[in-house]
Amino acid sequence: MKSYQVCECGAPLQLREQATPKPAGTEVLLEVTAAGICHSDIHFWEGVYDIGGGKVMRLADRGLKLPLTLGHENVGRVVAMGPEAQGVSVGDERLVYPWIGCGTCMVCRRGDEQLCLAPQFVGAFRPGGFSDHLMVPHPQYLIDYGDLTPEQAAPLACSGVTAYGALKKFGNLPKTEPIVVIGAGGVGLMALAILRAMEARGAIVVDIDATKRAAAMQSGALAVVDGRAGDVAAQIQAIVNDRIWGVVDFVGSGSTVKLGTDLLTKGGQLVVVGLFGGEITIPTPYIPMRAMTIQGSYTGSLSELNELMALLRAAPMPYMPVERRPLDSVNKSLQDLKDGNVIGRVVLAPN
Ligand SMILES: [Zn+2]
Ligand SMILES: [Zn+2]
Repeated sequence: MKSYQVCECGAPLQLREQATPKPAGTEVLLEVTAAGICHSDIHFWEGVYDIGGGKVMRLADRGLKLPLTLGHENVGRVVAMGPEAQGVSVGDERLVYPWIGCGTCMVCRRGDEQLCLAPQFVGAFRPGGFSDHLMVPHPQYLIDYGDLTPEQAAPLACSGVTAYGALKKFGNLPKTEPIVVIGAGGVGLMALAILRAMEARGAIVVDIDATKRAAAMQSGALAVVDGRAGDVAAQIQAIVNDRIWGVVDFVGSGSTVKLGTDLLTKGGQLVVVGLFGGEITIPTPYIPMRAMTIQGSYTGSLSELNELMALLRAAPMPYMPVERRPLDSVNKSLQDLKDGNVIGRVVLAPN
């Protein structure tokens, strides 16, 4: 088995060869056919999150161990399984739910394994898909992706379920009100696609990059606003002729979260998804006086990924730019994503 691993934080991933593991118990071994590269991979690669004020949170302190095979947006073909693995057969093509928990803690028992207190995430706490093979601990994490291509299906495991999990926090609001989407990277474009599949009112998209704003218009945005303009909030209010009920922030910097809270009408809701980093200061009386909800959203649950797949099966797969590259381009591709030179998603495929 050949895998690209982080051996030192921030240094190029190294190609390592080791014996292909044999599945035991409920385990299923897949041959990887597509592995998306996500912005979180950059955090896992560099090993830090910016938490504002010049401080960082180190992933090593959160149990991340090196060497680590990255890659949590994986599609593969079943090649072997343990004697207790039920419901899959050799040759099945499946999408892998990566946000696997311990299965026994309070949040796992509620079905929110993505919030597990002792996470076992694929590509973070167990080996991921920047490899030719991938071991999955149980067939319940394997999802039939129907008629989608592997390149279309792979990003659903992270950017798809992340966008869906965030939008679900608004309840029925997107059906009746336009929402504001901050950030038109992979997750933001996925959110636009999902809003269309949900037959929602749609979204006004804020991004600082003109190419990404153009991609957002192609993905069905109602309007786009340059995040670098001095009057972003006024421009948005002019477009909707009102204040905003719902904002989803896929960037998560100090300035974007501040923009999100500034946009909200009384009783409005801001869902923060992005992990760009930074900090905000809010006068505490504003929280009750404006009846403001600020809610975080971290990926999505296994049942949400199953729901998303059902939604996308019923609706035609909307526009989402995906570029397929060979697995050995992983270092260049990570750098391109870090430098902001990727529109939509890059999906790696073993050479
Ligand atoms: Zn991700
Ligand atoms: Zn757990």
